[in-house]
Amino acid sequence: MKALTVKQPWASLICSGIKDVENRTWSTKFRGRILIHAAMKPLKFDDAVNYMSIEMLKQAVDFHWSTDHVVGVIMGSVEIVDCVVNHPSIWAEATDNHRVIWNWVLANPILFKEPIPAKGALSLWWINIDVCHICGQRAEYPCENCDEYFCDKHSAKFDQFTQIDYNCCSACQDNMKNHDEY
Ligand SMILES: [Zn+2]
Ligand SMILES: [Zn+2]
Repeated sequence: MKALTVKQPWASLICSGIKDVENRTWSTKFRGRILIHAAMKPLKFDDAVNYMSIEMLKQAVDFHWSTDHVVGVIMGSVEIVDCVVNHPSIWAEATDNHRVIWNWVLANPILFKEPIPAKGALSLWWINIDVCHICGQRAEYPCENCDEYFCDKHSAKFDQFTQIDYNCCSACQDNMKNHDEY
């Protein structure tokens, strides 16, 4: 799926649900879940703090970020739900007469239990990693019913009652079960 490389500490703040806007000089029409890749080179701690307003620091204060954040890994996923200018979020950089900054509006962040080492790239880039359509964690198996991917936790298990070995996600298994009752 698509991935976006972001410098630390922003990558951690996005995946933790604190930073809800990513600022770019270019807009995107893409809507949906993307992977967040933490760039190999983080922002220097002092630079990051200088960049942050009091409000940002207040939001981030419970989040113990430091210079030893993971780098060079896919660390989670998030949904792009909008792309606007002058979004009201404190994390949004403003567009003015001198420059246009696009605010990518983010929602439903997931921090991966296990970060996945990867090289970053510019723009929105592609990597052969999928996430579970139920929980957003890394997923290995496509569901035969809905074609979405699902993780270990959300794989449908062999059903001892119906003797059906569902090769699908738990959401589809539930749908099938409900369907059988009619
Ligand atoms: Zn899952
Ligand atoms: Zn499914």
